[in-house]
Amino acid sequence: MEDQVVCPEYGRQGIGLACTHVAHAVDSGEPVGFFWGDDVDTARPDAWCRACERALRAVPAGQSTEAWFAACDYKVLCVACWDSSKHRLRGPRR
Ligand SMILES: [Zn+2]
Ligand SMILES: [Zn+2]
Repeated sequence: MEDQVVCPEYGRQGIGLACTHVAHAVDSGEPVGFFWGDDVDTARPDAWCRACERALRAVPAGQSTEAWFAACDYKVLCVACWDSSKHRLRGPRR
């Protein structure tokens, strides 16, 4: 079973979640970075920006990431927007 969303740009699509910073960068094109998990209950895994990645790494091992997840303020993106942000926001590797 797969959730779908009707995107103003791409029409009916499967979904992927992205942190609010990535979701905003879809419009602004700001290179906020792009990281993703291995979660597969949606068409794309959850994605987050460089700042959220840093926050995630700061969570002590074995501790719940629930607070981190809430702070990321995840938004629903359609698969096409998810894919295009992946290409646009990843930026050069450091
Ligand atoms: Zn973020
Ligand atoms: Zn879209």
